[in-house]
Amino acid sequence: MELIVLGSGASFPVVGDVRNPAGYAAVLGRDVLLFDLGFGNLLQLFRAGVDPSRVTDVFLTHRHPDHVGDLAALLFTLRYDLKPKSGRLRVWGPRGIKRFISDLSKAYAPWLGPRDYALEIRELKSAARAQGRDWTLTCASVPHPTPALSYRLLYKGKSLVYSGDTGFSPELAEFAAGADLFVIECTVTKPSEAADFGHLTPELAIATIEASGCRRGLLSHLSVESARKARKLAHGSRILIARDLMRLKI
Ligand SMILES: [Zn+2]
Ligand SMILES: [Zn+2]
Repeated sequence: MELIVLGSGASFPVVGDVRNPAGYAAVLGRDVLLFDLGFGNLLQLFRAGVDPSRVTDVFLTHRHPDHVGDLAALLFTLRYDLKPKSGRLRVWGPRGIKRFISDLSKAYAPWLGPRDYALEIRELKSAARAQGRDWTLTCASVPHPTPALSYRLLYKGKSLVYSGDTGFSPELAEFAAGADLFVIECTVTKPSEAADFGHLTPELAIATIEASGCRRGLLSHLSVESARKARKLAHGSRILIARDLMRLKI
């Protein structure tokens, strides 16, 4: 599989180090799975040369705008222009995601409703499983101010873990154990901010990568300050720093 980083930035674009908010595409043969779709990321998908009609599933980690801001843009595009090639789009997320998408659809009614394809919204509890044509996925709850999930995707013997937004949790390293690629957030630089806002510092993210024993770790969800610190701390070929439209073979 190939991972395309649509957005390597933190909560919003900032002057000086322009990065799109959170979004990732996992390309599995002809199917594409999205992990989060923060605002601006539909356009990033086009810039990466990925046809959105290939998207079969969207996994949302939580409903902060930097992770879901372009969901309306995707549903609007699929209604009027590009239909999902599989005939179905599934959107997955933690508790509350059904209500969120229902409210969003009502606010925009009728322009997000599916036409000529099936839209399925599914809520996942921690440790639940999802399955596609040739992949499986599990999830785990992570600490954040709203219900939030991390995801672990398995495809043809290779595993991809995406932390989403998370405070420090030893269980996350266990969840990512032995992953081929572990995408992990590092938004803040002060331990007090990490504790207060449910995020990680580069030090905590790197410690989690090391504890997981994963093959490669990718530091992402970067602010100007955390990117600067991550560049200082990351060493060797095992720990990478994300940038927009980066592509990694897994
Ligand atoms: Zn975020
Ligand atoms: Zn968040």
